[in-house]
Amino acid sequence: MALFDTHCHLDFDAFDKDRAEVLDRAQATGINYFMVPGVTIDSCSRLLALSEEHSSCYFGLGLHPYFIEKHQFSYIQQLEQQVDQLLQQNNCCFKSIGEIGLDATCADLEFQQQLLREQLQIAKQRHLPVILHHRKTLDKTLKLVRESGPETGVVHAFSGSYEQGKAWIDEGYFLGIGGTITYQRAEKTRDAIARLPLESMVLETDCPDMPVVGHQGERNEPARMLTTLESLAQLKKISKEVVTEKCFKNSQRLFNL
Ligand SMILES: [Zn+2]
Repeated sequence: MALFDTHCHLDFDAFDKDRAEVLDRAQATGINYFMVPGVTIDSCSRLLALSEEHSSCYFGLGLHPYFIEKHQFSYIQQLEQQVDQLLQQNNCCFKSIGEIGLDATCADLEFQQQLLREQLQIAKQRHLPVILHHRKTLDKTLKLVRESGPETGVVHAFSGSYEQGKAWIDEGYFLGIGGTITYQRAEKTRDAIARLPLESMVLETDCPDMPVVGHQGERNEPARMLTTLESLAQLKKISKEVVTEKCFKNSQRLFNL
């Protein structure tokens, strides 16, 4: 049995002191594959090095809206060059465009939309899945994806209603299920996840962020994904084994592995 943490920022400083131990702890709990999204234009070299050192780490490249102040429009061209170079080299670990999206709590939504549109097109032209970030922008992001997005991708850290989840699934997208569902108070999201099809779900941590219940205020890490897996099994009223098997297959489909 294998598990895939489809969203973990293992290249961040937060893991500089003990990255190898974090990966060992994950492997010991059965989490053997990782998707590490890029966030700024200089993520590329760091992610390449990480994937060369740890062959279980796949990666994506993208300009994250959270770092909007660090981006320039000209970086789109640079990003495109990085992507094409990796594709030409048949890099086995480069698998997606992301983390990209819209964040209503960050500055300059107009510029965010401009960058997102361009990055969706980069993905679409190359048939690469996208890893989408959203905060209070789920419907606006869907509109842009319908206009210029690729065939598939993942709505990372899905938190929304049944209707919103259904709209993304109908579009051919997966929902990233993270620590949110481990909190009883996340009623709307838990209810939506309970009713939406498991065939469109993948598991993730978003570490070092999004701690699971019982670990608030602590650095998150892939091994903690088991708590989310347990919550998902409870919500779906099925065994952890079935959730493990299906979510892993979904992750392979999502990233074309
Ligand atoms: Zn992220």
